[in-house]
Parts: sequence; structure tokens; C-alpha cells
Amino acid sequence: MTMAAAVSDWVLEDGLFVEPRLKAAGLRHGMTAASAGDMGRPELRAAFGAPVTLKQVHGRTILRAAPDADGREGDGLVSRGPGPAVGVYSADCLPVLMWSDDGAVVGAFHAGWRGLAAGMLEAAAASFEGPVSAAVGPHIGACCYEVGPELEPRFAPSSFSRDGARLMLDLGAEARVRLRAAGLEDSRIGVSGLCTACRPELFSWRRDGVRRNMMAFIAPL
Ligand SMILES: [Zn+2]
Repeated sequence: MTMAAAVSDWVLEDGLFVEPRLKAAGLRHGMTAASAGDMGRPELRAAFGAPVTLKQVHGRTILRAAPDADGREGDGLVSRGPGPAVGVYSADCLPVLMWSDDGAVVGAFHAGWRGLAAGMLEAAAASFEGPVSAAVGPHIGACCYEVGPELEPRFAPSSFSRDGARLMLDLGAEARVRLRAAGLEDSRIGVSGLCTACRPELFSWRRDGVRRNMMAFIAPL
């Protein structure tokens, strides 16, 4: 299978971005658009319940979804059916949803450059037994994400590009590198090309200068 076949981008449907492979798998999931805010729309809460979320700290801690996990520190949650929906907040960082082939085990993970460097996605892959697929949601693209040279040693050379004198980091490309290294076939990895800083229907901390979030969430079958 070609790499292109694995890339099926998120589509805005009724106020939620949805991912075609997750939709085809029958998994309830989504990422709130800027219009919805932090799962504030009552109809979203009614449809998905209140997903378990964490106090995100740009680390690699993953917790099992349970009522007592809500609000604890960490950047990843795994839920086994009939467990609750799990969600992560992001604005420019990577929201990553992962699921087992039978949909019985799902996870939501948050990683910016710190989380990537800390090994969040490797830890996420290791939290599943058997084949797993991953959908990396909308995030700040290489078009808009200028970083300092101190980050160069931390990531694959292929994840960087130059725009004149500016050094640009492609978080999604780095996520793919790491997920592949963690054992996921390319065809199981989808990376959104939607840039939060370019698209007005998405929040961007860098662009907006306002600490608002979107939530990406998923529920197990
Ligand atoms: Zn951009």
C-alpha cells in the first residue's frame, strides 16, 4: 500500500472534524472545531458524554481511563470497552487517536515537540497489544512552525525544512517517523495536513495568542 493511501484527512462534519478511517470503523470520535470550543456544545456532551481528560503536562504518562483518572496529570489515556470516551486538548500540538483492530481498545494522546522528544508516541504504541492504527489530527504545520536550532538534535533530519533563514519543524512527519519505529505499518498511520495556524476553523495558540483549545476524543466499541 502506498503512503498516500494511508492519508485520509479529517473532514468537518456538523461542527466536528472526523477521520474517515475511524468513521469507517464505526468508532465514535471527533475533534471539535473552533466554533465548538472545549466540548462546550450541549449536543456534543449529549452525544459523547463527558470524555475523561487529563491535566496535560507535555510528558509521556499514559493512564487507563477510569473515573478517578479524570483531571490527573498525564498526556495519554487508554480506554477499553465499555469504558468511557477519552479526550485530549490541543491547539497547535498533535492530537493522536489510536485504536485496536476490533475497536475494543482506544487511546487519545497529546504531544507537542516536548512530548515527541519524551517518547509519548512510542509509549502510546506500547500501550496496545496487537495491531494498532493511529490518526494524527490537525496541528500546526511545517508551513507555520518555526523552531530554534536547539531542537535539531532531537528529531529526524527529514522532519525539518528551511524557509529562507527560518528552521521549520514538521511535527506530523516526526510523529510518522516515531510511530513507524514503534512498529506501525505506514498504512496504519494517517497524518492530517490541516494546519491550525492556516485554517480559520481551527484554534492556534501561535496565531491567536489566546489559550483556547480543541478536544479530540474517541470512545471504544
Ligand atoms: Zn500553516
